[in-house]
Amino acid sequence: MENLKSKVIIITGASSGIGEAAAKLLAQNGAKLVLAARREERLQTIVNEIEQAGGEAAYIQTDVVSLEDMQKLAQFALEQYGRIDVLVNNAGIMPNSFLNELKVEEWDQMIDVNIKGVLNGIAAVLPIMREQKFGHIINLSSVAGYEVHPTSAVYSATKFAVRAISEGLRQEESPSSNIRSTIISPGMTDTELFNTISSPAIQAMASQMKSMAISPYSIARAIAYAINEPDDIGVNEIVIRPTVLK
Ligand code: NDP
Repeated sequence: MENLKSKVIIITGASSGIGEAAAKLLAQNGAKLVLAARREERLQTIVNEIEQAGGEAAYIQTDVVSLEDMQKLAQFALEQYGRIDVLVNNAGIMPNSFLNELKVEEWDQMIDVNIKGVLNGIAAVLPIMREQKFGHIINLSSVAGYEVHPTSAVYSATKFAVRAISEGLRQEESPSSNIRSTIISPGMTDTELFNTISSPAIQAMASQMKSMAISPYSIARAIAYAINEPDDIGVNEIVIRPTVLK
């Protein structure tokens, strides 16, 4: 993983799950990490763990729903390390429910975090990356970005949107500005994501499937692979799911 060395990488949603695993794996391979999420204590602990293992990382409390917070995050990364090589738009929530339950507040939250959060990330770093004439934006979609199941309509809609935005970004920016765009689409992964489901019955259904879930490090390895490829190679899309799931 030679190309990861000294790359400046921002990860949103770095306080648990896939974001935490990616931060630790990338730092182990010599990247300089900027971690963002709302839970400050968790971020501080992860930064301490990375530093104790000999890596380099900093954090700033960030709500991806706020464009101002995302712009502060980008400025913070520039102040710390002088440039931004990669943004991993990883923060996400999945409060699945049946449409007829009309959990409209949760629909709004999913749209805000999963779609607007990604757009805010792009808005915060794109001008910087265009000026640098290099950069890489990695967006977390999902296998739910390809398929819909009962209870997943709104979550799937947000993840379909993430794929559309990432592909648009690739087509507009890769040829002219040298900015790479990658979609990472995990299947069931063992993280705290299922805690965002408010319905006990749907949580119980999800928990039954959890025994098949793969490690967040399997997704972190895919993120590391996409970043590590040489600059003239765009890894556009990776789907990773438990082998046993159809
Ligand atoms: P986790 O719940 O473990 O992590 C989600 C992260 O998002 C947390 O760090 C949380 O931090 C952060 N987050 C949530 N809301 C906000 C916000 N408003 N502002 C900033 N950060 C926020 O779940 P995963 O690691 O599984 O999720 C990571 C990504 O992977 C998500 O986009 C998810 O949709 C996607 N994914 C996950 C799958 C799975 O099976 N686990 C499958 C497919 C895709 P905090 O609460 O501290 O802000």
